[in-house]
Amino acid sequence: MQELCILGSTGSIGKNTLDVVARHPGRYRVRSLVAGKNDALMLAQISQFNPDQVVMADETAAKRLRLAVQAKGLRAEILWGTEHIVAVAEDPAVDTVMAAVVGAAGLLPTLAAVKAGKKVLLANKEVLVMTGELFMSAANAAGATLLPIDSEHNAIFQCMPPHFSKGLNTIGVRRVVLTASGGPFRETPLGKFAEITPAQACVHPNWSMGQKISIDSATMMNKGLEFIEACWLFDARPDQVDVVIHPQSIVHSMVDYVDGSVLAQLGNPDMRTPIAHGLAWPERIASGVTPLSLSTIACLDFYEPDMRRYHCLKLAMEAARAGGTAPAALNAANEQAVAAFLCHQLRFDHISRVVDEVLQALESQAAASVEHVLDADRQARCLAKQCIIKLKNDSMS
Ligand code: NDP
Repeated sequence: MQELCILGSTGSIGKNTLDVVARHPGRYRVRSLVAGKNDALMLAQISQFNPDQVVMADETAAKRLRLAVQAKGLRAEILWGTEHIVAVAEDPAVDTVMAAVVGAAGLLPTLAAVKAGKKVLLANKEVLVMTGELFMSAANAAGATLLPIDSEHNAIFQCMPPHFSKGLNTIGVRRVVLTASGGPFRETPLGKFAEITPAQACVHPNWSMGQKISIDSATMMNKGLEFIEACWLFDARPDQVDVVIHPQSIVHSMVDYVDGSVLAQLGNPDMRTPIAHGLAWPERIASGVTPLSLSTIACLDFYEPDMRRYHCLKLAMEAARAGGTAPAALNAANEQAVAAFLCHQLRFDHISRVVDEVLQALESQAAASVEHVLDADRQARCLAKQCIIKLKNDSMS
């Protein structure tokens, strides 16, 4: 029986994880659940999975939840705040941590889980983007098992030789190829980008996901974050990672070997496949995903991304090459810009502009410690907020 801690259980990845777990009651036990403020859904999850501990980031939501749990006669202990979130992630009784909080908020608990040597299922890509080198060395030092949940990285992991460790050259890999759907605006004329609304941007053609990653997919910042993530996870140089548009999202990514072989992992676009793979690895378990019918799909297309359409991808690739604190600044500026766009405070086509201006204003420093990274994150957020206000004022005058 594996004891699980699920960080971000009320989100899209969290719910899919619990869906897979519920299919294998004798194999997994949910020891702890963590979320932000959705106490109503958390109450339903507590009723179904009976965890020992639940932590909410938001104190008011936790206090409401505590009353509801008592009223229903449930036994879960309800806590709140970062300190307790970190404590459940490093709890000695936990074997496996699903890291599925969205954004920089997931950094400290995910880092705590790797430092405690857990099996960590990594969905929260922003953590690797921000602290790649520190995170990977902490995982190696503690002997943590890191399994990628992002479908692209999970696909690459499945196509790699077993027990690969350092450097793609040493295992005969020429490059890894990340596939990208191109998002909902793949064919929208560039002149219409200024009018795109949050509701339009949140509708992904193939995947059902949380709001932030849906916007990131529409700008292709998501692929940019995945580009940086791939460099760290697979010890690849930026020139060893390629991105190709594949509108059907059936080939989840590929590994191109020096002998000319290209290995790809295929499947229907459903996150329960990589989640089940991570949970059961190195074994396989059923996930509930509909089997793939290639004859029904009939056609698979691939083509190069247009960097004028996907300026965020270009910025992320540049930040990967710059290294140091540049990826953390990129991530922070993007989080601010996406939040402003979702609140109708920023135009869709200005998301990349905010990120660009912040990266130009902030010089990249060595990411020597988590404090250095968090400092760059704070500075970038502050600059991004100023830039968002300026762009809003400009568009009103
Ligand atoms: P969602 O927005 O759907 O869910 C985010 C989760 O994080 C929710 O449970 C939310 O709680 C919780 N949360 C938010 N803020 C905090 C906080 N400060 N402390 C603790 N928990 C918090 O996101 P997704 O599930 O879509 O994405 C999660 C991560 O996985 C992201 O990093 C994303 O990039 C990555 N990912 C997602 C994929 C997908 O298909 N969705 C695919 C690949 C990667 P609450 O709702 O209660 O506020």
